[in-house]
Amino acid sequence: MAGRCHVVLIGPQGSGKGTQAARIAPRLGLVHVATGDLFRQLMTRDDELAREVRSYYDRGVLVPDDVTLRVLLQRLDELERETSDSFRGALLDGYPRNRAQAEALDEVLRDRGDEIAAVVHLVVPRAVLIERLSGRLICPQCGATYHVRFSPPKTPGRCDHCGSALVQRSDDTPEAIARRLETYEQQTEPLLEYYRARGLVVDIDGNQPIEVVTEAIYAALEPHVGDPV
Ligand code: ADP
Ligand code: AMP
Repeated sequence: MAGRCHVVLIGPQGSGKGTQAARIAPRLGLVHVATGDLFRQLMTRDDELAREVRSYYDRGVLVPDDVTLRVLLQRLDELERETSDSFRGALLDGYPRNRAQAEALDEVLRDRGDEIAAVVHLVVPRAVLIERLSGRLICPQCGATYHVRFSPPKTPGRCDHCGSALVQRSDDTPEAIARRLETYEQQTEPLLEYYRARGLVVDIDGNQPIEVVTEAIYAALEPHVGDPV
C-alpha cells in the first residue's frame, strides 16, 4: 500500500522524544520507529556490525549514515511486510539527524509514494536536558523509559511493563551527553530550517509535565494525521 504519512520528531537528547512517541504513536495509529532503539537492539548481538555500532554509540557519536539508513530501511520493510494493511505511517524518533539523512529520507519516501505529514520540534532548555539524561533509566528488554525522579517505575529498579531490571544507558555519561548535545546543535538543529521552509514544523514546549506535552503534540498532529480508522 502506498501513500503513507509519516511524522518526524526532532529535539535534543533528553527532550522526551522516546517518552512522547510511545504515548502518541498508538493514539494516532502510527508505529514508533526509533533508530536509537534499533541500534540498542542490534548491539545485543555478538557480531561485526554490533561491534561497529557500539564503537560509535558508547562515545555519543553518530553511527555512519549508510549503516543508519540500512537499519532504518530494514525496519520499514519489515513493517510493510508484516503489517501492510494496518501500517499507516511511522513516528520517526531520532532520524533524520543531519542534512544527508534528511535528503536520503526524502528520496526513500518519494520512491515509496509516502510523505512527511509534520515535523514535531520539542523545545527544552539545556539545563533541564542534562538533569533528565543524568537520571534516565531504560528497560533493556522492552525499551520503556523512566526517570529516577520525574517518571519513576512503580517498583524501584523494575520495568512496569515486563518486570525486567532497569539500567542506565551506556551513552548517558557526562562526556557522551556533552558530545551528543553538541552534535545536535551543529547537525540536527539546522534541519528545522530545512523543514520550516516546507511549512512542516510545529514547535512544542517540552518543558512541561509529560501528560501536558502529550496533549499538546496530539492536538498539533491530529489535523495532519487524523485518528486511526
Ligand atoms: P529523548 O528520547 O528525547 O532522548 P527521553 O524520552 O528518553 O528523551 O526522556 C529523557 C528523560 O527525561 C527520561 O528519563 C524521561 O523519563 C524524562 N522525561 C521525559 N519527558 C519528561 C517531562 N516532560 N518531564 C520530566 N521528565 C521527562
Ligand atoms: P538516541 O537513542 O536517539 O539518543 O540515539 C542513541 C545513539 O544511537 C546516538 O548517540 C547515535 O550513536 C546512534 N543513533 C541513533 N539515531 C541515529 C541516526 N539517525 N544517525 C546516526 N546515529 C544514530
